[in-house]
Amino acid sequence: MAENIIDVNHASIRFNLGNIKVDNLKEFTIRKIRHELTFQEFLALKDVDLHVKRGESWGLIGTNGSGKSTLLKMITGILKPYKGTVQVRGKIAPMIELGAGFDQELTARENIFLNGAVLGHSRRFMEEHFDEIVEFAELQRFLDSPIKNYSSGMKARLGFSVATMVNPEILICDEVLSVGDANFRRRCNARMQEMLSGGTTLLYVSHDIPSVIRLCDHVLWLDKGDVVMQGDPETVCNAYLEHQEKVYSYAQKEREDRQEIESGKVFDYLVVGAGLYGSVFANEACKAGKSAVVIDKRDHIGGNVYTSRRDNIDVHEYGAHIFHTSDKKVWEYVNQYAEFNHYINSPVARYKDELYNLPFNMNTFSKMWGLYTPEQVQAKIEEQRAEYIAQKKKERGLAPEEAFVPQNLEEQAISLAGTDIYEKLIREYTQKQWGRPCTELPAFIIRRWPLRFTYDNNYFNDRYQGIPIGGYTQMVEKLLSGVPVMTGIDYRTFAKKYAGKYRKVIYTGPIDEYFDYRLGHLQYRTVRFETEELDMPNFQGNAVVNYTGSEAPWTRIIEHKWFEFGKDLEGNDLPKTIISREYSTEWKPGMEPYYPVNDEANMKLYEQYKKLAEKEPGVLFGGRLGTYRYYNMDQVILQAWEMAEKELKTRILVGSVGKK
Ligand SMILES: Cc1cc2nc3c(=O)[nH]c(=O)nc-3n(C[C@H](O)[C@H](O)[C@H](O)COP(=O)(O)OP(=O)(O)OC[C@H]3O[C@@H](n4cnc5c(N)ncnc54)[C@H](O)[C@@H]3O)c2cc1C
Repeated sequence: MAENIIDVNHASIRFNLGNIKVDNLKEFTIRKIRHELTFQEFLALKDVDLHVKRGESWGLIGTNGSGKSTLLKMITGILKPYKGTVQVRGKIAPMIELGAGFDQELTARENIFLNGAVLGHSRRFMEEHFDEIVEFAELQRFLDSPIKNYSSGMKARLGFSVATMVNPEILICDEVLSVGDANFRRRCNARMQEMLSGGTTLLYVSHDIPSVIRLCDHVLWLDKGDVVMQGDPETVCNAYLEHQEKVYSYAQKEREDRQEIESGKVFDYLVVGAGLYGSVFANEACKAGKSAVVIDKRDHIGGNVYTSRRDNIDVHEYGAHIFHTSDKKVWEYVNQYAEFNHYINSPVARYKDELYNLPFNMNTFSKMWGLYTPEQVQAKIEEQRAEYIAQKKKERGLAPEEAFVPQNLEEQAISLAGTDIYEKLIREYTQKQWGRPCTELPAFIIRRWPLRFTYDNNYFNDRYQGIPIGGYTQMVEKLLSGVPVMTGIDYRTFAKKYAGKYRKVIYTGPIDEYFDYRLGHLQYRTVRFETEELDMPNFQGNAVVNYTGSEAPWTRIIEHKWFEFGKDLEGNDLPKTIISREYSTEWKPGMEPYYPVNDEANMKLYEQYKKLAEKEPGVLFGGRLGTYRYYNMDQVILQAWEMAEKELKTRILVGSVGKK
């Protein structure tokens, strides 16, 4: 088997981008002393792995700025990785930058010898091959002109001719050939084919995809420094072209939407927030013959259900989202906009080195106590509850027949599930979630604890469950098709810029923010996500693992690929994985508001905001932030329908179009 001639192992290249442009050392020193220079880290290549065997030809593709040239410069030794390693076991003939290795003041004749010396050839060797080089470059008439007078095509011809005079072990070609004329490009291609059959290894960067497919037997696709895909040329190039077409049509749609918004048209509705609520409402408005424009301050649609595709894995960027409902109409509705897979949420809990199935069911109990029948398990839980309640009553001086009323979350949890379940699966986990011990949390947080006495790991009781194949973003895109959308713009900015361009507002942002927090801030819990790509096929063997012990600072780890059974859209196994660690965090103004804290004080404040909202002319509030309530996706769809039916005087009929 051929040995690897190039090994790039998890290599990253980092640049520090300065805040100001400094041209000379004096200015640099002065600004440095004054602490006026700051740098922002920019990763031009991230954790790139590339293994090239002797004699292989690799095409590197990607848009401008994707990291292709940086990768070539790293392989040639011009740039050093700050992480990872690069090993090259052969002599390289690089053609990386137009005119690199040439002295602009010297003639072509002089530069041939200079370039030859740079590539390690003796003067005698260069004299022997001189005519051949000149002939291939077709520059006989201009040999004694300084190279600074050459066109870019002439420089490329000369460079290529010198670099390929002998079969180099590794030829690196970076787009330089694109400047040559058609005839020269044909001859270059023929020479490269010749060299490849002679055993040269080729690294070839080009935007000319047909030439990549023709010349290369492997292709690596880079995007913003990340490897998106590597494999056979047809597959990778097709995926790349498909992606480019999509990007182009997005940009095209964005332009068209902007034009429509900026035209003289007055929209019936401005929908603030491109989450599920806003998208469902806008969809229904259009079906009812009304016009709507949707905006979002984030730079994407979908709100919290947004998924992005990385390494062929749909990443749930704002936390795991599993669609579940018992409402047949909601299920049929979402199935009009996406095909759902048959994912069933069956999380596991890890407590130190023990693993338990969730929700609490016979699998959990039999693992915990070695008991196998529901009767045995119920007796065990009852024994623990009774002992605990008796003890508590004694402490409080209550008679055995008097009722025990739990005073805090710990008491509530043990009186429902017994001590063992509480200790291993509830106590430390809840403390991580709320940032306070269970003894300091109110009992009402858990009103009911569903204990299942069947061997059933399905977390939800709903009739329908699944995840849209290809991610939620595609589903929202379809809901919004035909609706002009503007992302990356806040309501206030839009309202100022496009005042008078809409008749009514459907507002799905935070209600207190709308009123400039004039009555105070509503409280939320938030989650911080730390997402990491791992070079392994399987990290934890399940999409959701809860970490119930205090030894792990995170509450959960999500392994996104298992929401789609570890396969790409074609059904192939995915070689890498992406995980997100979730840290439950105290919310402060400015952070993402996730879970409303519906305690007494916050609900009182919300009621006051609601009164203000009811008096606000031409603005209707909806969605989880607009009504300060946690909703599952199906509930938010129902809420949006309710608003649509009331507002549009329409009836939601699944499967029908344009009804009124
Ligand atoms: C971590 C987490 C996990 C969840 N998991 C599930 C699950 O598994 N299953 C399930 O059914 N549900 C789940 N949910 C609930 C689900 O996310 C919500 O039901 C749904 O996203 C609510 O949609 P929405 O449109 O009301 O709000 P959002 O999705 O939050 O959309 C509101 C949009 O408004 C935009 N916005 C806010 N203010 C402004 C402004 N001033 N100007 C412009 N735009 C603005 C925001 O950027 C946002 O995009 C989960 C929620 C969280 C937080």
